[in-house]
Amino acid sequence: MSDLRSLYQEIILEHNKSPRNFKKLDGANRILEGFNPLCGDHYTLYVKLEGDTIVDLAFQGAGCAISKASASVMTTLIKGKSVEEARAMFAMFHELVMGTLKDVSFDHLGKLAAFAGVSEFPARVKCASLAWHTMRNALDAGTGTVSTE
Ligand code: ZN
Repeated sequence: MSDLRSLYQEIILEHNKSPRNFKKLDGANRILEGFNPLCGDHYTLYVKLEGDTIVDLAFQGAGCAISKASASVMTTLIKGKSVEEARAMFAMFHELVMGTLKDVSFDHLGKLAAFAGVSEFPARVKCASLAWHTMRNALDAGTGTVSTE
């Protein structure tokens, strides 16, 4: 387990140091800001939606290591996915950081598993979830549907 924990820590530190898709995205048709006043995390999320597919997404901004790494990992996972797949991943991530997901193994979740430990720190849940909530709101704004949550 300690090996796994250090692997998870490495993923977070590495994505914080070299965040993926960390730029302004030209051609984005959904641009949303996410702000977590508790910690001061503040990001702008750029999404390029074509039909039902998230063809590209990127983010800019600043915040703690958890929030930045989470946003970075999210962009790598969501890029190229359908809106439905992105919503399913949001739901899975939400359960993961709330500590209610049953299978939190690396095999099942890949890099997302790095955020499993966040569920032990309620204040950090908002940091880890910020980019995901912003992404979901960006998709909602585009479809005109109302979230049931
Ligand atoms: Zn934070």
